[in-house]
Amino acid sequence: MSASESMPQSFQQSDFRPSPDNKPIPLDVARARIVEAITPIDELERVPLHAGLQRVLGTAVVSDINVPGADNSSMDGYGYAAGDLGADGDTLEIVGESLAGHPYGGELAAGQCVRIMTGAVVPDGVDTVVMQENTRVEGDRLVVEQRPKPGSNIRAAGEDIATGATVLAAGCYLRAADIAVLASVGVHEIDVVRRPRVAFFSTGDELRPIDGPIQPGEIYDSNRHGLAALLAELGMDGVDLGVVGDSPEALRAAFDKARGCDAVVTSGGVSVGAADFVVDVLGEQGTVDFWRVAIKPGKPLAFGTLGDARFFGLPGNPVSTAVTFVQLVRPALVRMAGGHPAVPIRLDLPTLADLRKSPGRENFLRARLVTTDDGRLAVDPIDHQGSGVMRSMSAADCFIVLPAAQHDVPAGEMVTVEPFAQTIWGHPE
Ligand code: AMP
Ligand code: MG
Repeated sequence: MSASESMPQSFQQSDFRPSPDNKPIPLDVARARIVEAITPIDELERVPLHAGLQRVLGTAVVSDINVPGADNSSMDGYGYAAGDLGADGDTLEIVGESLAGHPYGGELAAGQCVRIMTGAVVPDGVDTVVMQENTRVEGDRLVVEQRPKPGSNIRAAGEDIATGATVLAAGCYLRAADIAVLASVGVHEIDVVRRPRVAFFSTGDELRPIDGPIQPGEIYDSNRHGLAALLAELGMDGVDLGVVGDSPEALRAAFDKARGCDAVVTSGGVSVGAADFVVDVLGEQGTVDFWRVAIKPGKPLAFGTLGDARFFGLPGNPVSTAVTFVQLVRPALVRMAGGHPAVPIRLDLPTLADLRKSPGRENFLRARLVTTDDGRLAVDPIDHQGSGVMRSMSAADCFIVLPAAQHDVPAGEMVTVEPFAQTIWGHPE
C-alpha cells in the first residue's frame, strides 16, 4: 500500500502545507511561530523551598524583611564615629565588642570604639569600621594607622533586599543561588508551575528495544532514549509511549494515548517516504501549522496541535532529532513550563577546518571549542557530519551555525558558534 492509497481525502497536502510552493520556512520564523503558539501552563503547586530547585517560580516572591536586617560590619575590625578622629595621633577608647549574633549592648560616648566582627550589628553612634589589619592596640586604646573613608565597611540594612522588594519574579527558573536568596528572606514554601507532561514516542518498523538482539536491517531505538534524556534534563514530566509502527492505524492509537498531555514529541515518519504517515495522521486527528523548516540537519519537522496538546513531529535521523529538539522544541517547552527561552549565546570564532556548505538551508554543524597553541579560542568541526552519525553530537560541545545563503567556508574564516553549555532558561522581562 503506498502512502497516497492509504490516505483519505483529508490527507491531501494542501490541507496542512500552507506555503503554496511548499518552501521550508526559515528557522527563526519557525521558532517564533512555535513559541507564540504556546500557552504557558498556569496551574501552580505549593512546594517546600528545597523542592523548588529547577522548577519555574509561579508567583513572585516579595520580601517581608530587610536583608541585611540591620546595619552590620563587612570586616573584622573596630567601629567608631569618624568625627571622633580629628588630628593625627588621636586614639579611641575600646569599650566592648560586637559579634555576629551578640550585639554590643551599651551606648558609645564620644571618643569610644568597639571591636566588631564581620556580620555583627553596628552599635548606635558608629558610622565607620576600620579593618583590624590597619590598627594597633595599646592597652585599652586603639590607634587607627590607616583611616578608612567615613562610612567604610558598613553594610546598610536593606542594602541587599529592602522590605517590600520583589525578590524573584514569576517565571524565574530556580537555580541553587535562587533557593539561597529565597531562604535569606525567610521563605520556606513557594508556588511553582506544574511541570509540562510531555508524551513521546518513536516511529519505525525497523526499531527494536535496546535490551534485545537485532537482525540485519533493524536498529536500536536510540532516539526515544535520547528524547527521554533531553526531557529529563529540562525537568519535564515525560510520558514514554514506546515504539509505534509505520502505519496510520498504529499512529492513531498512539495519538489517542498522547492527547491528554501538554505536548507530544515524536521521532521519525515525518518526511515524504512511503512509510511516513505522521504528518498525515496529524492532519486528520489534529492540525498541522507547518511542516518543513529550512535547516540542516532536520528539514522535515511537523508542528501542530493534537487536542489541547502541542505536537512536534521530529525527523528520525538521530542528529536531526537532537538538533530540532534543541532549536525548536526546547524553547517551546521552556515557554510552556512558564519560563522564558533564553536567547542563545553566540560567538564569532575561526574554524580550524574547511566547511562544506551549499546555499539553501541554515546548517548546524557539530563542533568543539578549542584553545589553539597561541591561546586563542577557535572551533574545530567534527569529521563526520552525517545526520545519522549521533557520535558527532556526542563528541561535540557546540554548533557551528552557517546562514542559509552561505557557501563553503575555508579554514581560518570566522564562523558563528553556539555553545551547548549555555543558558537555556532566560530571565523574566
Ligand atoms: P525517518 O525520519 O523515519 O524517515 O527515519 C530517518 C532515519 O532515521 C532512518 O534511517 C531511520 O532508521 C532512522 N531512525 C528513525 N527512528 C529512529 C530511532 N528511534 N532511533 C534511531 N534511528 C532512527
Ligand atoms: Mg521511519
